[in-house]
Amino acid sequence: MPARLLDGRPVAEEILRAVREQIRQISTQHLLTLALLLPDDVGAKAYARAIHKTLAPLGVQVRHVPLDESIDEAGFREIVTRLNQQPEVAGILALQPLPRSLPRWLPALTIAPEKDVDGMTPINAGRLFLGLPAVAPSTPAGGMELLRYYGIAVAGRRAVVVGRSPVVGRPLVSLLLSADATVTVCHRKTTDLAEVTRTAELLFVAAGSPGLIGPEMVRPGAVVVDFGINVVGERLVGDVDPAVAEVASAITPVPGGTGPVTNAVLARNLVTLARLQRS
Ligand code: ADP
Repeated sequence: MPARLLDGRPVAEEILRAVREQIRQISTQHLLTLALLLPDDVGAKAYARAIHKTLAPLGVQVRHVPLDESIDEAGFREIVTRLNQQPEVAGILALQPLPRSLPRWLPALTIAPEKDVDGMTPINAGRLFLGLPAVAPSTPAGGMELLRYYGIAVAGRRAVVVGRSPVVGRPLVSLLLSADATVTVCHRKTTDLAEVTRTAELLFVAAGSPGLIGPEMVRPGAVVVDFGINVVGERLVGDVDPAVAEVASAITPVPGGTGPVTNAVLARNLVTLARLQRS
């Protein structure tokens, strides 16, 4: 029997309903603004459009702050410091890939933790790691929301995460540990990926590698969550081969799986920050 498709849209709608209600409750003369630090990149621009499409109907203003290829560290710091100080800016998100002229860690060390809408600063990442209340990165937090919505148990189960990036794999490990899963992490240097992925009852993939996980790498009946968003030709494909649906019990489609939930969680994070800033 083919796997159940875990559609992200109803999950996103449920989250956004609650967000709409919270936005109504925030009393403010200012519009709620999300600042997007936007590199000159096709993928980043596509993501910015998707964020805009989710947030604009909520009455959130999305401000695009262009980063050109030649920006230097001082220029970047100046932009972010200004945004950190503007009261109407509730959240700041640096979209990937950063201009090559900038060190990778710069956004995480420059954005004020109070405005860190995607949980990337050391303060928020550290809180998440310690299991303290934290604004968690929206992609892995969205993955957890999908499981919750579809009633998929996490506690006590064997979870395997493929990928250890700061925005997906690593924070997902913390979220899964806090939800009482037994967690294994794989990455580029893992010697026998298939051997490890085959042990997973819950398999999470965020490697940025189209079709990396084939059906022979998946334990029959596993739940598979695909965070991959790869553009191949004109098509959007995940990190998981669609043939995995013949082996898994449930799987997220690409597109329409984790993607919509990511943006809904981003909106929720923004409102969480706005409330904290006003309390
Ligand atoms: P993302 O934003 O999707 O998390 P990144 O490019 O930042 O993507 O990170 C990719 C992660 O996936 C890295 O941690 C890398 O080690 C892992 N990865 C990439 N290719 C493979 C592979 N073939 N096998 C296992 N892990 C991989």
